Amino acid sequence: MDLTKPVEIAENIYWVGYVIPDDPFQCHVYLIKNGDESVLIDPGSMITFPVVLEKITSLVKLREIKYIIMHHQDPDIVGCYSTLESIMPKGERYIVTHWRTEMLLKHYQWKTPFYLIDAHDWKLKAGDREFEFVFTPYAHFPGAFCTYDKKSGILFSSDLFGGLTDEFSLFAKDVESYFEAAKPFHKHYMPSKEVLNHALLQVQSKHPKMIAPQHGSIIKECMIEPLIEKLRQLECGLYLLDEYESDLKVLNAIDEVLKKFFQDTVSLSSFEIILRNLYKNIKTVLPKIKKIEFCGLSPLSDKIYCFSFEDDKFAEIDEIDDTYTYKHDLIQNDKKVGAIYLILDDTLTKHQKHLLRILLDKISVPIAIALQKELMLKELEMQNKNLYEKAITDSLTGLYNREYMMEYLFKKMEESKRYNVPLSIAMIDIDFFKKINDTYGHLIGDCVLKELANLLKSSFRGSDVIVRYGGEEILVIMPFTTLEEACEKLETFRQKVEEYKFCRQEGLKVTISVGVEEYNKKDDLKDFIAKADSKLYKAKQSGRNQVVCKE
Ligand code: GH3
Ligand code: MG
Ligand code: MG
Repeated sequence: MDLTKPVEIAENIYWVGYVIPDDPFQCHVYLIKNGDESVLIDPGSMITFPVVLEKITSLVKLREIKYIIMHHQDPDIVGCYSTLESIMPKGERYIVTHWRTEMLLKHYQWKTPFYLIDAHDWKLKAGDREFEFVFTPYAHFPGAFCTYDKKSGILFSSDLFGGLTDEFSLFAKDVESYFEAAKPFHKHYMPSKEVLNHALLQVQSKHPKMIAPQHGSIIKECMIEPLIEKLRQLECGLYLLDEYESDLKVLNAIDEVLKKFFQDTVSLSSFEIILRNLYKNIKTVLPKIKKIEFCGLSPLSDKIYCFSFEDDKFAEIDEIDDTYTYKHDLIQNDKKVGAIYLILDDTLTKHQKHLLRILLDKISVPIAIALQKELMLKELEMQNKNLYEKAITDSLTGLYNREYMMEYLFKKMEESKRYNVPLSIAMIDIDFFKKINDTYGHLIGDCVLKELANLLKSSFRGSDVIVRYGGEEILVIMPFTTLEEACEKLETFRQKVEEYKFCRQEGLKVTISVGVEEYNKKDDLKDFIAKADSKLYKAKQSGRNQVVCKE
């Protein structure tokens, strides 16, 4: 394609622009050859004028141009018109525009009269051609509009659908790459998503066959709908992000990180995943960040918790890595509730520092809120766990209480039945405990119970559950244990008790009697315990200080 010559983009419709070397912001001029009612669209600036004029005059005589459409008043659109008007021969000619643009253009004091589209039912007839004007207010100027040529189906879209392209291409190559060019352009040119979406809807209502924007590349029919779908999602008004940053790339990068972060904070409940994603996203724009650490003050206990992110590792840490380079306080309701610490691989450029500052400013409030919520949940969970522990244990001995035991033993019986694994229990009772109380006092009695509990805890497996069943009766639940194994274990324990010196009391002899029972699948919970109990009774009957295994 020879861009030094006019390019016919549809029958009698020409691109007559000039490609400004090394400029990502190209400005297009279009000409519709239409006898002595030819139409020039957005004549352009003084930079492009010499080449544009040459191209125009190679196609039509200047006097044949009857309509000059000016989509708005920017210098890249109208900058050449004073000069062009001065060389145009006399004749009937109009500047076609919206009244809002005319309010500004009149200050040039051109001689050419205006044809106001809003005063002409948003239509223009030029020979056998009909134009319809599409009002797209605020995209990007209050009086912005597009021009739709009914005959060719081309929509001249002014700044809509523009793009910033590193390498110029008159036609957009594919939706993905052109969207990348159109994205930063629209995000900063268009004031808001609502404004852009309104404009896109207006454009869609014409079902254009081609879109010829003033900047970027021309879009063929098959790419129009998919591109509109993508443009619809853009958050616009990019400069609202920061007061001083004017670099579009920086603002765009920040916007992308923030968009994902805010989406995560509303859609994800896990604090860890929110932070993990944030860490990954920040690294895409600031790869020098090696580690991010957070500390936060719990709103419930004023305790400080710290977390660390490095690569894919998330961990709760005791203290902050003191090699950090940046620290940013987390403030909520004027109170410092925590801080973010950044550990870097390398120093940041001035530019990157700026980017980081904007990012931290934006994320610190939602992070502070998320962190507070997380710490509150964490502590509530801990409190619940403690309450549960308290509810299921006996305060004197620290052994599980009878209520918990019922539930647990029932579960173990089900498990034993289902998987056909052995389960045994032992009912232990201190011999003549009443006498111990009477002789040494209640406090010593308590002490004996406590020490017996400790002795049990240290003598049985972690998987065995020891329960204070009654006053001085203790039940041991032994999963995966046969009667023989349980008996052997209990006999060893009985001897241990017999030899143990309880509560440093000279002359105090403590012995236990035990009934051991293995679970029989036909028994229910009551039967199972009753059988162990009756063996304990038998042990007592047979002289105490013994383990009874058989009926
Ligand atoms: P036996 O060998 O037949 O079991 O005789 P025993 O005296 O141990 O039997 P009994 O069941 O009649 O007495 C149990 C005593 O345990 C009665 C009660 O005062 C005492 N006891 C129960 N719970 C506690 C406790 O928490 N602390 C103390 N010090 N004594 C308790
Ligand atoms: Mg007793
Ligand atoms: Mg008793």
